[in-house]
Amino acid sequence: MAQKGQIGVTTENIFPVIKQFLYSDHEIFLRELVANAVDATQKMKALAASGEYRQELGELQVRLELDPKEKTLKIIDSGIGMTEEEVDKYINQIAFSSAGEFLEKYKDQIGNIIGHFGLGFYSAFMVSRKVTIDTLSWKEGAKAVKWSCDGSPAYEMAESDKADRGTVITLYLDDDSSEYAEKSRIEALLGKYCKFMPVPIVFGKKQEWKDGKYVDTEEDNVINSVEPLWTKAPSELKDEDYLSFYRTLFPMNEEPLFWIHLNVDYPFNLTGILYFPKLKDRVAVERNKISLYCNQMFVTDHVDNIVPDFMTLLHGVIDSPDIPLNVSRSYLQSDASVKKISTYITKKVADRLENIFKEERESLESKWDNLKLFIEYGMLSDEKFCERALKFALLKNTDGKYFSFDEYKEAVAQAQTDKDKKLVYLYATSVEDQYTYISAAKEKGYDVLLMDCELDSHYVNLLEQKLTDTRFARVDSDAVENLIPKEDRVKPEMSEDQRYDLENLFKAVLPEGNDYYVVGENLGADAAPILITQNEFMRRYREMSALGGGMNFYGSMPESYNITVNLENPMVAKIWASKQADVAPQGELPPEAGKDASEEEKTKARDARDAVRKAHRADVEAFAAGNDLLHQIVDLALLGNGMLKGKALAEFIARSQKVLASTCQ
Ligand code: ADP
Repeated sequence: MAQKGQIGVTTENIFPVIKQFLYSDHEIFLRELVANAVDATQKMKALAASGEYRQELGELQVRLELDPKEKTLKIIDSGIGMTEEEVDKYINQIAFSSAGEFLEKYKDQIGNIIGHFGLGFYSAFMVSRKVTIDTLSWKEGAKAVKWSCDGSPAYEMAESDKADRGTVITLYLDDDSSEYAEKSRIEALLGKYCKFMPVPIVFGKKQEWKDGKYVDTEEDNVINSVEPLWTKAPSELKDEDYLSFYRTLFPMNEEPLFWIHLNVDYPFNLTGILYFPKLKDRVAVERNKISLYCNQMFVTDHVDNIVPDFMTLLHGVIDSPDIPLNVSRSYLQSDASVKKISTYITKKVADRLENIFKEERESLESKWDNLKLFIEYGMLSDEKFCERALKFALLKNTDGKYFSFDEYKEAVAQAQTDKDKKLVYLYATSVEDQYTYISAAKEKGYDVLLMDCELDSHYVNLLEQKLTDTRFARVDSDAVENLIPKEDRVKPEMSEDQRYDLENLFKAVLPEGNDYYVVGENLGADAAPILITQNEFMRRYREMSALGGGMNFYGSMPESYNITVNLENPMVAKIWASKQADVAPQGELPPEAGKDASEEEKTKARDARDAVRKAHRADVEAFAAGNDLLHQIVDLALLGNGMLKGKALAEFIARSQKVLASTCQ
């Protein structure tokens, strides 16, 4: 029956072309061939189970045999095999013509195609100069067939003497694919692609350490686990099972915080286990640690088109035969079933977290600091998740106490509602750096949240949109009296000139290089003389632009500070009084130029007025320079903000010693 023929591919000699195209993906040939062998084995099992096949099944496994000298690799199964007609139909016609179609369709966008697709049997030619199939079908009376093809579109088919059921595929590896003739390379590929396939896959023998080296034992080396954890019923599994499975997936990682076992069969089929890893900061974040499987066959570890962005922070496995694989990435994102799957996974993750919140509150609190980044990122990037998370996300205060949003509202509503009926949530970004402000706020009966996560400046903005009638204020953004204004404050009465003097007085002794807005307030005799604060919104925008929020304009501006001067503080009152006494009031300003004056006259008049102002300002500055008390209170305020450095700090110390020494005289 020896037969020769041409494979039905239109492009003449298609193999070199596809080899070149798919260069980076050559290694998937192994997955494809092993998957075919596994399929044939599964079909055999099904035939036996349905009673169609009544003979001895024998041992159902897939074996790989490598001959590094001959550079051949055999994939051997005892599956259903193929009859001559089937080889003709599935290999000569379908397998090759679909490869031709495939090439036609994707030749312009080969780079866009998802990395892996069912190239099937054909992929053997990516690494082989010749491929043979030796096969005997399970069907009664079937004759064994031997097929061979050397990479040109010509093939040969002849009778074979194969006596046992199943298929042997032999690859005669190409010289430029000799890496696949190495045992370690095949082992690594089996580990990557076949670790969880549902039929035992045998590659060589188990080894043992004997007389100073590893030697083969009698025992077959099965490289896969045929029933990976995600295929089992959650009710049968214990925490330790999940933890040890995590260790097999990620041997180098720390223990995960929580996990979810996904298991759905309608309206689509999906199983899997997702782990929440410890996430401390952005630097340590590992993405793409979710592997996608299709019926226990590894497909990819890039699930970024299948799950929402923030979910790629999770680790684990998703197995679904319903995710289309032979399509481009952009198509995948718009695919309806993929959208459903994505929505389902998000919902499941939210369900699980809500459940942990309700049932395992203590555990949630103890793990919150490591989980927070994931949840905040999820809330910031996914509207639906955000709505759900408002029920289970926690807030932590500077005393290390945790609250849900509802609980927090209730806890602070009474003390922290301002005159406009808005709730004001105070927060600090560092307990160390903002210590004085935090204690001042606490003394006033306020609570202070800790927002020390990298995403918190964005997060605070988001919460202001989501929580009604609530505003956030960093604890050092204003004098404690002004953080939560309870009534409209009576502003001190000052003339325009006086305000100008106050501003110049303080600017004269503040460090250069920043912008300052100086305002006089009546904060009471006991309150601090000066408060240095940073405008809440300016600061937030700066931080967000530093994080890459697109608001670069704010990022490039000089730092600006509000200087609140407490006019009721006795030291300030004393300085102000001596300024009034010592500095002559600003002289009469020369008149402005009339409407009809020439340009020259206008400039002259303006300059004359400026000269008077400048002279007065110089007087104020001279007074400021000689006033130790003024220097001292400003420096103390700077010191409290960590802003007193270098020469200014040395001068402060010298001045303080002088003042202290004077008390001993
Ligand atoms: P696919 O597996 O996507 O259908 P392939 O090109 O891999 O495409 O295989 C074509 C067909 O050849 C298979 O559908 C199957 O019928 C047959 N086949 C391939 N390998 C084997 C095998 N090891 N045993 C039995 N049949 C096989």
